[in-house]
Amino acid sequence: MPQAEYTPDELALGEALFRSAWEFVLSAPSLEFLPPMRGLEIAFAGRSNVGKSSLINALCKHHGLARTSNTPGRTQDLNYFRAPQHRQVFIVDMPGYGFAQAPKDKVQAWTNLVRDFLRGRQNLGRVFLLIDARHGVKKVDVELMELMDTSAVSYQVVLTKADKIKPHELAQVFAETEAAIARHPAAFPFLVATSSETGAGIAELRAAIALLAEERRV
Ligand code: GDP
Repeated sequence: MPQAEYTPDELALGEALFRSAWEFVLSAPSLEFLPPMRGLEIAFAGRSNVGKSSLINALCKHHGLARTSNTPGRTQDLNYFRAPQHRQVFIVDMPGYGFAQAPKDKVQAWTNLVRDFLRGRQNLGRVFLLIDARHGVKKVDVELMELMDTSAVSYQVVLTKADKIKPHELAQVFAETEAAIARHPAAFPFLVATSSETGAGIAELRAAIALLAEERRV
């Protein structure tokens, strides 16, 4: 299975970027509150409860940086974080989506914010699209993929909570997810399977972000 693989040098670059805990920059409830377009932005998107806050906290070594909660649909803002020594690289925590009980106006507000953000953000290097390894790709995920395809936003699928299923089940969901993304032109072809519990895949994600920063020379 083509789990994204990195050389020891690339993994070391990732470690260096995440050596110290990242810091919170700002929270934008709408586009007027976004910071100026500069540096490199890497966004994290996924359905509510996919494990996005846990993954960002594990990645950034900052527990409580992104709020973890069992209450889906709580965070509605675009939250910005940055590395203390590398102040031109930003992680953007996008609001979770696909919460079945969310009121229609909330869903519409989310869709508008995300659509406008994806269309207009030229310094957005990649979106990591988180998919729960137990559930695989759902209709709402495909809708977001289509939005990113039409906005020409490069995205990479990250499977979360890999520790919750058996290795053969993970291999199956991996293959199914690969087949699903093959139909999407803006999807990066390599997946990363992660677990915030065991730390699996975290070093690879850090390396992917560090390589994007290097490519963009930020
Ligand atoms: P978010 O809504 O996407 O930000 O999801 P959270 O990070 O708040 O996680 C939702 C629930 O899944 C919480 O109860 C977490 O403890 C749990 N969780 C998140 N990531 C993992 C993981 O990698 N493994 C396991 N076993 N549980 C996880």
